Amino acid sequence: MINDRPTQLRVNLDALLNNYNKLNELNNNKIGLAIVKADSYGLGAKVIANHLYQNGVRHFATATLEEALELKEVIQDSMVLVLGVTNPKNIKYAIENNISLTCPSITWLRECLSELETLDKKLKIHVKIDTGMGRIGTSDVEELKSIDRLLDSEKIDFEGIFSHYSNADGTDDIYDDYQTENFEEKIKIFTRKPKYIHIENSAGTVKYSNRDDCYNMTRIGIALYGCYPSENIEKLDKVRLEPVATLLSKVTHVKKFSQGEKLGYGVSYEAKQDEYIATVPIGYADGLLRRAQGFKIKVGTEDCEIVGRVCMDQLMVRCNENVKVGDTVLFYGEHNGQRVSIDDFASYQDTISYEIFCCISKRVLRIYYKNKMEL
Ligand SMILES: *Cc1c(COP(=O)(O)O)cnc(C)c1O
Repeated sequence: MINDRPTQLRVNLDALLNNYNKLNELNNNKIGLAIVKADSYGLGAKVIANHLYQNGVRHFATATLEEALELKEVIQDSMVLVLGVTNPKNIKYAIENNISLTCPSITWLRECLSELETLDKKLKIHVKIDTGMGRIGTSDVEELKSIDRLLDSEKIDFEGIFSHYSNADGTDDIYDDYQTENFEEKIKIFTRKPKYIHIENSAGTVKYSNRDDCYNMTRIGIALYGCYPSENIEKLDKVRLEPVATLLSKVTHVKKFSQGEKLGYGVSYEAKQDEYIATVPIGYADGLLRRAQGFKIKVGTEDCEIVGRVCMDQLMVRCNENVKVGDTVLFYGEHNGQRVSIDDFASYQDTISYEIFCCISKRVLRIYYKNKMEL
């Protein structure tokens, strides 16, 4: 395959590993569960997990069984936990591939036990307690007691128990404290202790790094990819994350506009004076959303506004007279000493870095590099 189009998402694997290690140091060496769901937030789970694996990481989590199975092609002797709900009919795939599943309810566990009757291996599970997120897991005491009784089964390997903060990136700890207390109460219901107990996401990992608690694992997602879960977490100034992802393209066309000339679908922009307009081959089919219209990106070393509506495959930017075909365009990240903050890019579009990453479509080439060397 040739790579004709210059649009690419560059992923710095060294920065990613440094972030992982920094967070692990910060959390007193609790086990850092590397969250590589949704294809590592769109950055490419296979390459990223393999790189972490080569550097000693042995604990990973995905959102789905499909993602976990794909990961198992590149990493073997590691824990891979599926964070979402898996259909009990498919647990044999989890068992055959040594994948750990989330137990969201007693009903789910019962269905698994009936599937397990015809299977002769153990199913590894992490019981999910809902402490206030309201998504999956249960908070019902009777249900938790019933789950605990079923964990007696020799077909079940009770590997973990976990919950999820819903507001750890917020400005205060009130709801976190409520969830923490709730979690610790619920853990007491269980008559045995699993290997792993975890509740912290990236925000919690940073925020509660000095807490004396009973948890021995933290789940590191967005921070691995070089972004703070929120400004509040960044302001704590506990860890300096290194940017991992950079979205780049190049100018493919330039033209001079006279005052009053118009461009874009819906005649969405009119030149205010004589202007130079550059066209860049990226659009909403690449995950560069229409909401980005008006944001200033870097063309070479200049800040240039995206003008007119973002098209499916291309967009236009207003530049100065020096712009030429082949000039580098930086949407976010760092390149050649230039920098555009992904958080600024995301907040301009009323969203968060997580969504910006996940939107980048398959059409955009991912380039991985280490120590400035391309792989
Ligand atoms: C996605 C996810 C995480 C990671 O969250 P970050 O904010 O990216 O660190 C952790 N735990 C669960 C259950 C998740 O779904």
